[in-house]
Amino acid sequence: MRIAMIGTGYVGLVSGVCFSDFGHDVICVDKNPAKIEMLERGEVPIYEPGLDTLMEKNVEAGRLTFTTDLAAAVDGADAVFIAVGTPTRRGDGHADLTFVMAAAEEIAKSLTGYAVIVVKSTVPVGTNRKVKQTVAKANPNADFDVASNPEFLREGAAIDDFMKPDRVIVGVQTERAGEVMAEIYRPLYLREFPIVTTDLESAEMIKYAANAFLATKITFINEIARLCEKVGADVKEVSRGMGLDGRIGNKFLHAGPGYGGSCFPKDTMALARTGQDFSAPMDIVETVIKSNDEIKRRMIDKILELCGDTFNGKTVAVLGVTFKPNTDDMRDAPALTVVPALVGGGAKVRVVDPQGRREGEALLPGVQWVEDPYKAVQNADALVILTEWNEFRALDLKRLARRMATPRMADLRNVYSAKDAKHAGFEAYMAVGRPSLE
Ligand code: NAD
Repeated sequence: MRIAMIGTGYVGLVSGVCFSDFGHDVICVDKNPAKIEMLERGEVPIYEPGLDTLMEKNVEAGRLTFTTDLAAAVDGADAVFIAVGTPTRRGDGHADLTFVMAAAEEIAKSLTGYAVIVVKSTVPVGTNRKVKQTVAKANPNADFDVASNPEFLREGAAIDDFMKPDRVIVGVQTERAGEVMAEIYRPLYLREFPIVTTDLESAEMIKYAANAFLATKITFINEIARLCEKVGADVKEVSRGMGLDGRIGNKFLHAGPGYGGSCFPKDTMALARTGQDFSAPMDIVETVIKSNDEIKRRMIDKILELCGDTFNGKTVAVLGVTFKPNTDDMRDAPALTVVPALVGGGAKVRVVDPQGRREGEALLPGVQWVEDPYKAVQNADALVILTEWNEFRALDLKRLARRMATPRMADLRNVYSAKDAKHAGFEAYMAVGRPSLE
């Protein structure tokens, strides 16, 4: 199969590289020339473990190329994937489809023979039909079908998720499009990963329903964590006890500073808007959005308490700013709520993050970037763990405590415990939904 992949972000690049590894000929397109230049030099513009090696292997095999020339990539392609961004539209919470529709129009003008236009971006119900109309209008002679193929990969584990998915969702309207999609995913069919072939609307809805459900699960345990703090229970014990129930499962039951990232915040918001548009309010999802915002703000109150009710003049070391470990993605990260509150309150903030600096420098003005946690805590008044990178999971707490002016820790990912902290010489320790040391 010949595949054109439009957009080389987290989803487009990973999908393009993995499809080429399946044996297909893939041309990845991006309108950002700087990205394409980097890719042509063999450099990966994002941080995603394992992506560089897999990319190099397939470029060398001659199956993977990069271009800014969309028309050349689409010419002769069996399938053209749209993997561009669908951020939240300013003002109303809807998914902004500008990039998707612009790509659809460009593709329409470049189609030379039959092709399936596959929407991989996360798009609200009805968008695939709009893409079809847009293409037909821009090029009335175009011979094409549309297919909805939402992506479920997680940043930080993207290659494994793509190569060994829990399922692949394919929404189609014609048998011909279904056959092309089956051919593209044949290596996964052969290895018996479930492929769900359905209609366009159901495919679009599956993606939002899945993300909203996961966001709800996280928010649920975060609310339980707040109650645990009041009644003296330990949310880690509660999660374990709940998660062992096969009907519940142990994933996405970790209390923390609220969900963030490039998907959950925008997708919950877009689903809530779709519900409003169709007079089918998504009450649970709307509450989840509100509750998650409150959770993020509650983290600021925790740190404030730890700092003696003022940030002014305090030095705070923050470990981790990306929305989760193993990615450089800062989109909607809890750090974007917490760190500006510290800086705004007059704290001197030192930040350590293994991959976050490139994105974070522009997003977190007024902080000092430090390479090493032990340097970051020198004479600091408080230490905050915001992202549970492996580097922060086995810190020498005694060494940290010794270096701090006042050894106090807000462990917002529940990596350590009050007992660990006390033993290491911390005078105060706060976690999320767990006993603290005050
Ligand atoms: P991204 O912002 O990282 O990348 C999008 C890329 O598309 C950019 O490089 C941009 O320059 C390019 N682009 C935009 N318009 C273009 C055009 N007309 N022609 C060529 N290139 C164009 O986005 P992402 O994180 O990869 O997400 C893409 C989609 O996948 C979104 O809808 C998102 O919701 C969905 N998704 C993301 C993830 C994730 O973990 N990031 C997971 C599942 C689904």
